[in-house]
Amino acid sequence: MQSFFGKSIYKGMVMGPVMVFKKNDDRVKRKKIENAEMEITRVTKAIDLAKKQLQKLYDKAIVQVGEASAAIFEIHQMMLEDEDYLEAIHNTIRTELVNAEYAVAMTGDNFSEIFSAMDNDYMKARAVDVKDISQRVVQNLCGQEEVDLSSKGPCIIVADDLSPSETIQMDKEKILAFVTVRGSANSHTAILARMMNIPALIGVPLELSKIENGMIAVVDGFKGQVIFEPDEDTCREARQKIQKEQEKLRLLHELKGKENVTLDGRKINIYANIGSVSDIGYVLENDAGGIGLFRSEFLYLGRTDFPTEEEQYQSYKQAARMMAGKKVIIRTLDIGADKQVDYFQLGKEDNPALGYRAIRICLKQPDIFKTQLRALLRAAVFGNISIMYPMITSVEEVKQIQAIVEEVKAELEKQEIQYKIPKQGIMIETPAAVMISDELAQLVDFFSIGTNDLTQYTLAIDRQNEKLDDFYNPHHKAILRMIKMVVENAHKYGKWVGICGELGADTALTEQFVRMGIDELSVAPSMVLNLRKIIREMTV
Ligand code: PEP
Ligand code: MG
Repeated sequence: MQSFFGKSIYKGMVMGPVMVFKKNDDRVKRKKIENAEMEITRVTKAIDLAKKQLQKLYDKAIVQVGEASAAIFEIHQMMLEDEDYLEAIHNTIRTELVNAEYAVAMTGDNFSEIFSAMDNDYMKARAVDVKDISQRVVQNLCGQEEVDLSSKGPCIIVADDLSPSETIQMDKEKILAFVTVRGSANSHTAILARMMNIPALIGVPLELSKIENGMIAVVDGFKGQVIFEPDEDTCREARQKIQKEQEKLRLLHELKGKENVTLDGRKINIYANIGSVSDIGYVLENDAGGIGLFRSEFLYLGRTDFPTEEEQYQSYKQAARMMAGKKVIIRTLDIGADKQVDYFQLGKEDNPALGYRAIRICLKQPDIFKTQLRALLRAAVFGNISIMYPMITSVEEVKQIQAIVEEVKAELEKQEIQYKIPKQGIMIETPAAVMISDELAQLVDFFSIGTNDLTQYTLAIDRQNEKLDDFYNPHHKAILRMIKMVVENAHKYGKWVGICGELGADTALTEQFVRMGIDELSVAPSMVLNLRKIIREMTV
């Protein structure tokens, strides 16, 4: 039995088998070799295996998503047969006398750079593909299993760290818990874990090489503890605790169908945050009154090219329909910072959180923005959709957005495509937006305060940096005063204001928020009923 402690980001208790998630980057080390031909044979075998894996993926995708979407796996197989690619790998091994893993990874990086620099859009898009196939070959060379959860039962994912795109690709039904060695409590991976109601521990000082797939573990999100190979007593205790938790949840679920109203009659909207349409099940299960934040950028993650207007339209329309008239606030894409997508080719930045992200990308690359706006305006016909814009810092940005929305409207009109102009609000997540919230309130329909970024930018603390977790204090007076100021300015102009950052779910502040006049709290679906309980037991 081995026990470790970390920081818990979602309180829950589970027991089950472990699945170790290793990244290729950690394993690609340059090593000197003596027998080049032996390395080349290893490459050939790894490529043969990759082609077989891709064929399987192609067969599966054709059934699940159709021929057009499956074609990518066919392209990948063809790329693995490309003579220039193979020759480059072989030459690297022969001339530099280096190991196969290194030669494949280097060739992948070099080809990817060459493709990125091309003028032709089709070739540019292949930059991501060549990296992808190279990663697959390296994975095979390392004898590492693919992280394919589809054939496995539910398991506890143990990893060094997880990026949002790695997390989003995992089948949520198959994950019992996350345990990571690194990671920050305010990262998007942590947010995803909360949203999925999945117990998660970060900063757990374990040695990944000592953990094996299939080992049984207990994750206790209340204590922040993970126990590998628990003894009989520990297992019994864990089972009892899991049962008790289920009982508590059952009691909370008795609040379903009840109003979020204080004892003295003040009503609050409690909505839920989601990352994709597949999360709507959690929203309905927990009886949220609507969706207060649909992080649409997750539609862009974990893929090799931009989602088309049609794909986006179908997702937004499905969300609107599933919520059947309840509010669905869709935030336009907030790519950048920790949410990196290769095909956006954002380039390396010294300070990505202060860099080219969110609305800045949309205003600089209006084609990407317009595709999303067209999908949103078309989907708005099917339900109660609102649009929300992230990372606003100025009145000019809002005016530019409004002009682009007008252009999109005119295009749709001209093409005689059905659309509706939804309510439009902005996120207040920069100190600048707080300070000019009186002016912004006159331009938009509502505000939603993004306390995750507002805390990061106000306290000058990188929310991704795990070393700073102890300094990251969203209870700081500065933040609470800012929230109060935003509420006052919004109400002065008759606009409603909500909180959709993680602080909205902080039960220690719920009463204070209600007294401040917050109209809406949008939280992880699992927190909706907890907040309802507090609100129903308080007076303003
Ligand atoms: C926030 O910043 O509080 C927010 C809700 O947006 P995100 O966490 O996606 O940056
Ligand atoms: Mg934000």
